[in-house]
Amino acid sequence: MGSNKTKKTKVGKMLDNVRPQLLLSDLSHAASLERLGPKLFERIYWRALTDEPKIAVTFDDGPHGISTPQILDLLDKFKVSATFFLVGKHLERHHKIARRMVSAGHEIGNHTYSHSLLYLSTKKRIRDEICRTDTLLRNIDGAEPKFFRPPAGFFTKQVLDIVEQLGYKTVVRDVYPRDPHLPGKKKIVDRVVQRTVAGSIIILHDGGNTQRVDRSQTLEALSEIIPSLKNKGFEFLTLSALLSN
Ligand SMILES: [Zn+2]
Repeated sequence: MGSNKTKKTKVGKMLDNVRPQLLLSDLSHAASLERLGPKLFERIYWRALTDEPKIAVTFDDGPHGISTPQILDLLDKFKVSATFFLVGKHLERHHKIARRMVSAGHEIGNHTYSHSLLYLSTKKRIRDEICRTDTLLRNIDGAEPKFFRPPAGFFTKQVLDIVEQLGYKTVVRDVYPRDPHLPGKKKIVDRVVQRTVAGSIIILHDGGNTQRVDRSQTLEALSEIIPSLKNKGFEFLTLSALLSN
């Protein structure tokens, strides 16, 4: 009788520790794990190491002229702090919305200038994409950008090296309901509520590559996700607060 046991690759074993979702960004993480080894865990954050029911909700690709203010209203209503990873080209158009984020106690992070997939880029391009947005973020009173999120979750050792040289820490996530694929409010809610654990970093999207994107499913889902997770005892923190524990 042949054994059903298949010898797991190093990547396979590592993925067991992350999430069994063999999707592109996870594969990218896995490929990076394979190349960079365990040290990678010291260089990027997927999740905070805590047993306490503390989590961070993060929003990518904004600011967006319509959906971001709606999300900010909802966060105000539930008295929840969040972290927004902003795209520089959108920030130039919606500086006022970013100021509102910071004055409401939310954190803002760097998501490149043009949402460029950095693993395909030259060193100079990677540096420019991060620095251009860094300057825009630092023009907002009270903002202290510390965290960088690579577009589409793709990164390489070169990207991590440059991010760190520029004083940033790379943050990905452990809970991603794929809201930009518009799976419907219910799926977004279920995926987040079922997968969130102590220390989780949740990613949702308030913006997109163009200003025409529709984030109404994300907004509707969020209005259920927040009370559901609060009922389970979770406390929402900014990334700085979550990761400083
Ligand atoms: Zn993005």
